[in-house]
Amino acid sequence: MSYTPVIGLEIHIQLKTKTKMFCSCDNRGEFLPPNTAICPVCTGQPGVLPVPNQQAIEWGVKMALALNCKINSLSKFDRKHYFYPDLPKGYQISQFDLPVGEKGFLEISGTEESLSEKNIEDLEENPKKPKIKLPKNKRIDITRLHLEEDAAKNLHSPEGTLVDFNRAGTPLVEIVTEPDIASASEAKLFLQELQNLAKFLKISDAEMEKGHLRCDVNVSLRPVGDTKYYPKTEIKNLNSFKAVERAIEYEIQRQTKLWEAGQAPEKLTTRGWNDTEQTTEEQRVKEGSEDYRYFPEPDIPPFNLAAVEKKAKLELPELPQKTRVRFADEYGLSKSDAKILTQDPEWADFTEQVFSEVWEWLTSLPDLDGTEEEIMAKHRAKVGRLIGGWLTSKLMGLMAENKIDIRLLKITPENFAEFISLIYTNKINSTNAQLLLEKMLEAGGDPSIIMEEDRLGQVQDTNLIETALDNVIKMNPDQVTQYRSGKTAVIQFLIGKAMKETRGQADPQTIKTILEKKLK
Ligand code: ADP
Ligand code: ZN
Ligand code: MG
Repeated sequence: MSYTPVIGLEIHIQLKTKTKMFCSCDNRGEFLPPNTAICPVCTGQPGVLPVPNQQAIEWGVKMALALNCKINSLSKFDRKHYFYPDLPKGYQISQFDLPVGEKGFLEISGTEESLSEKNIEDLEENPKKPKIKLPKNKRIDITRLHLEEDAAKNLHSPEGTLVDFNRAGTPLVEIVTEPDIASASEAKLFLQELQNLAKFLKISDAEMEKGHLRCDVNVSLRPVGDTKYYPKTEIKNLNSFKAVERAIEYEIQRQTKLWEAGQAPEKLTTRGWNDTEQTTEEQRVKEGSEDYRYFPEPDIPPFNLAAVEKKAKLELPELPQKTRVRFADEYGLSKSDAKILTQDPEWADFTEQVFSEVWEWLTSLPDLDGTEEEIMAKHRAKVGRLIGGWLTSKLMGLMAENKIDIRLLKITPENFAEFISLIYTNKINSTNAQLLLEKMLEAGGDPSIIMEEDRLGQVQDTNLIETALDNVIKMNPDQVTQYRSGKTAVIQFLIGKAMKETRGQADPQTIKTILEKKLK
């Protein structure tokens, strides 16, 4: 007998509004000393009134729209009761029957067993590679999106548990999916897509490791062909994509064994992910649906979202899935480069600007003939691949090595476009281009000027190359004899020497041509 995994996710995303959900406290409490970004409202003192954060409501609506949800024109807040030291009021202000948005969906792309990104990229690099199914789209339905406030943070230490209330009252959107997800890799793809959306809408940094995006995973199994739902396990404490993936894989294995032993889970249970052990651990058996005693928040009147929805629709930017396709179509970027460059809106903006500048540079240089349109038509694909490669592997690599964020990058899109033009028109070879890029990364500046000053450009003067080659031939008589007696591979050695002699400024191809003539 085999079993199909049934998986649904509950995701919390912290909104990066200036102030908290229901008070005017600073919402960047994670960077501040404990219990300094607090007030009577977010610490639950009696006699205070919560005032909803309009920005948070607008962002919630935006996210709901990006997830294709229907917006409830009338929405309201409700109290959800439970007792825990991180919840000063004894209830959380959340939304129950009239959430901001309902009945949406998000598409992910991949195949059931090879959804992992690695395989999708393999496929692009090597389209003839057999056996991997073509990526297709899968729609994951969204049950609801609602707004709520975050709880405080418990800090456990040997002396006891301390509570930091800075996080209490941080605005959250909670997104609940239908149990449409069928594998760990689908869950991961879904979360990455969601993170991408939140970043594009600029409503959250959505970093899992920093707790801006948190995910509870619900897993059950059912025999293949069965359409019934069976009791699920809820796994909490997942703080990275990897943990989500591992926890699901582990839980599928654990439940498969139970089913095979005729002991399929009979009750809802909650398990916690132990990252050290890479296992899930039993926490408690849920007594059906917990009694949160939801009731309408009496201090906040229901609110109308029609105007907010209208405004949010107008302000909604192009969403990353669309940007990705456009980058490939319009700019000639490979699909995998387009995906990488649309993971962060700042990178997408940068890329966009580089492409809008690069054609100006290429037409302004005397090397390419024709009007801007003609040059674009002819060189689009090649320039697209060149820019994609230099952005995603070289520049991003250097930035990661030096821990430089795109927001602190000193290279302007204009300078980068000029840099690409220099490479494309053979003013500089790729070894020296790498050096040039490193210098630009350090201090910014105009690439043509740095290239001149540091003599990184290609030597066009064949006289100089001839002189260098004469030297190389004189200094390496053994290799010259070998070459002449038929060991032609030794030419690489001589080219290397000549590159050194010209300090990497000469074009290796030119060197080779002249050298071959001289050695005849
Ligand atoms: P609960 O009452 O435990 O909060 P909900 O019905 O509200 O359960 O669903 C919470 C999450 O669990 C949703 O993401 C939903 O898709 C998922 N879910 C519901 N039933 C199952 C099931 N049988 N197996 C796996 N996931 C499920
Ligand atoms: Zn406060
Ligand atoms: Mg629920």
